[in-house]
Amino acid sequence: MSGSLFIVAAPSGAGKTSLVKALAASIADIRLSISHTTRPPRPGERDGMDYHFVTEAIFETMQRGGGFLEHAQVFGHRYGTAKKSVLPLLAQGLDVILEIDWQGRRQVQAQFPHCVSIFILPPSRETLEHRLRLRGQDTEAVVARRMGDACAEISHYNEFDYLVVNDNFEVACADLMTIVQSRRLLRLRQEKKLKSLLGELLG
Ligand code: GDP
Ligand code: ADP
Ligand code: 5GP
Repeated sequence: MSGSLFIVAAPSGAGKTSLVKALAASIADIRLSISHTTRPPRPGERDGMDYHFVTEAIFETMQRGGGFLEHAQVFGHRYGTAKKSVLPLLAQGLDVILEIDWQGRRQVQAQFPHCVSIFILPPSRETLEHRLRLRGQDTEAVVARRMGDACAEISHYNEFDYLVVNDNFEVACADLMTIVQSRRLLRLRQEKKLKSLLGELLG
């Protein structure tokens, strides 16, 4: 049985990485897809853990070879989800979370029409800016650029299935868990898992 694909997007600094990591640590059988990027690592980021950090040349070769499920240019860098980061996990029946931007969602949804997409909103513009600074890993120029781009990213909120406001972290995390859990309880997923129970109950 194939797992479900979840897409989480948000303006930079809204808390999607923190939320998605907490979600994956709280529930079983769900994995985060690790993207490829040409962006340089932030302090503390590790290759193969946070991203696969690659050169433009390697990214280009992967793209030409059809290695990406989706790819996009974001904040002047290239980001992409490799097919091999996702397809084998789904085939094992694991749920997979993609932390990608709105352009990537469009490409993924065209291939996986039943994927579940979630957009994370910050509780205010001021809080978004505060969190970008709090993270303390981007220069002032990068923070200014990301704040400038936030509105453009947020303008795509209406392309997503669910909206979650990340004000209180635990509440937002519980909201994400509810979305994942409700997907797992869909009849189409349950009836394969519960085949023997249904058989017994139905005689
Ligand atoms: P953050 O949003 O502040 O955590 O910044 P990141 O550098 O982690 O991500 C930059 C942008 O690239 C975000 O909009 C992500 O959604 C997007 N992104 C990350 N991974 C992928 C990916 O695999 N594919 C695509 N298309 N976009 C990605
Ligand atoms: P994104 O991946 O969307 O860019 P991060 O997960 O890196 O965002 O979060 C940005 C910053 O905001 C981090 O320093 C994180 O610890 C902090 N943060 C995330 N969610 C909350 C929250 N609900 N309340 C307070 N701070 C938060
Ligand atoms: P950051 O540079 O702060 O890690 O990420 C910036 C933006 O890039 C985020 O909005 C994130 O969602 C997006 N992003 C990260 N990886 C990917 C990816 O693989 N594909 C797409 N489309 N966007 C990505």
